[in-house]
Amino acid sequence: MTTDHGYPAVRMYVAGAWCQGETGRTAPVVDPATEEVIGDVPLATPADLDRALDAAATGFEVWRATPVAERTRVLHAAADLIAERADAIGRIATLEQGKPLAESTGEARRTADTLRWHADDARRAYGRVIPSAPGTVLTVRREPLGPVAAFTPWNFPVGGPNRKISSALAAGCSIVIKASEETPATAMELVRCYADAGLPPGVLNLVFGEPAEVSEHLISSPVTRLVAFTGSVPVGKLLAGRAGQVMKPSLMELGGHAPVIVCADADPVRAARRAAGAKWANAGQVCTSPSRFLVHESVAEEFTAAFVEAAEAVTVGNGLDAGTRMGPLANERRVEAVRRLTADAVARGAKIRTGGERLDRPGYFFAPTVLTDVPEEAELMSEEPFGPLAPVVPFRDLDEALAIANSLPYGLAAYGFTDSAATAERLADSLQAGILSLNHCGGSVHEAPSGGVKDSGYGREGGPEALDAYLVTKRVSHLLVP
Ligand code: NAD
Repeated sequence: MTTDHGYPAVRMYVAGAWCQGETGRTAPVVDPATEEVIGDVPLATPADLDRALDAAATGFEVWRATPVAERTRVLHAAADLIAERADAIGRIATLEQGKPLAESTGEARRTADTLRWHADDARRAYGRVIPSAPGTVLTVRREPLGPVAAFTPWNFPVGGPNRKISSALAAGCSIVIKASEETPATAMELVRCYADAGLPPGVLNLVFGEPAEVSEHLISSPVTRLVAFTGSVPVGKLLAGRAGQVMKPSLMELGGHAPVIVCADADPVRAARRAAGAKWANAGQVCTSPSRFLVHESVAEEFTAAFVEAAEAVTVGNGLDAGTRMGPLANERRVEAVRRLTADAVARGAKIRTGGERLDRPGYFFAPTVLTDVPEEAELMSEEPFGPLAPVVPFRDLDEALAIANSLPYGLAAYGFTDSAATAERLADSLQAGILSLNHCGGSVHEAPSGGVKDSGYGREGGPEALDAYLVTKRVSHLLVP
């Protein structure tokens, strides 16, 4: 069933069945491009969550005992369905999140590939045999950790939930995932691909609810063995603290405030064009979005002019319209946040070179914005904008740029532009970040790990490291002659 907007009726998925929740309590889902309510999302009660936990406990026993070849087959079948349905899934993602259709469908297609990567990596969760004494076999085995409690945000409505689900399932774990209540139908359609691929009941359970209630319930349950979260630093700290109280490991993919260092020897126009391409993606609502542009003073004006030109060439509009390059922000909270950061910077002396305002139309639209003369004490220089704001700050030498770049408690992504191999190596050695891109601002790839340092969290998603958090390392020494 769908609404007039082509938006499906959202359901939770528990123990292999689609359900509405015990009390029928719901919250509205809003299209950020129109501010219209397009549907609603069911909210779980504690009893619903208990059913999901029971299902995950049973599902874990079934899934861990399933031969790895069969697990891989089911995961590949789910990936094929995601790829087949990418256009439909992408349209729903755009309706509820706002990003342009090309970004949403591209995200769905990449998600299928990520799942294929994890499906194959399931076969490579090797242990090892350690040389030992005659008559003794000393091995290290890697076993699935157990049922996972996962929480994902709204900015990557397909890829975000899938990173948790595909890693957990590839490792042999079951999962209860609370995807964002702001993008629930995309998560539902993603989960439907796994269900239709033949995943046994209980292995994957999808719930929605009041976030604090759900996380408290799932984390404190003795059933769950890992807490996996993507979202803001404050909420991450809260959940990691709660997990620590009940001695559960956690995987924390939190925010950042990515510096982009443009050195004197880089081509400033090329750097501006590449950085701008990444800046406006998802309207800047990406944890790795380039967000502090530190440019050598000798090329700062040339860089800024090219960046402003790129910003002004961006077509802002409804993500469903052909030709839209940047959609609305995902919700009113983000508009308020970027407005506050802009006003604070201007009050402290910053100049708006382009943008700086909410667009005068329904929807959560904010213009691509470039600011210069932003003092270091402006909130924008220390608070992740998570929106289309680009402050450009000139620097005199690399020591100064590195000091500014590393001055924040975050360390997720960082970017550098230079034509010198020696400078590139210095950046690689010195930047405090889990992800460094040199001479480009491209996104993550499933073959390589992503994750942060400092307040940006711990653990890695992507690459062979992705399964680490979901596996227990067990030492077994076996004396052959009793
Ligand atoms: P928020 O801190 O309220 O929520 C972030 C996410 O955490 C949401 O999905 C929310 O549902 C969830 N959440 C909130 N409280 C929770 C709780 N007690 N238990 C479990 N989940 C909980 O922020 P927001 O307004 O949605 O987004 C604002 C900020 O969050 C952004 O500025 C950005 O820094 C950060 N963020 C980061 C990412 C990321 O990919 N790292 C994604 C989305 C948001």
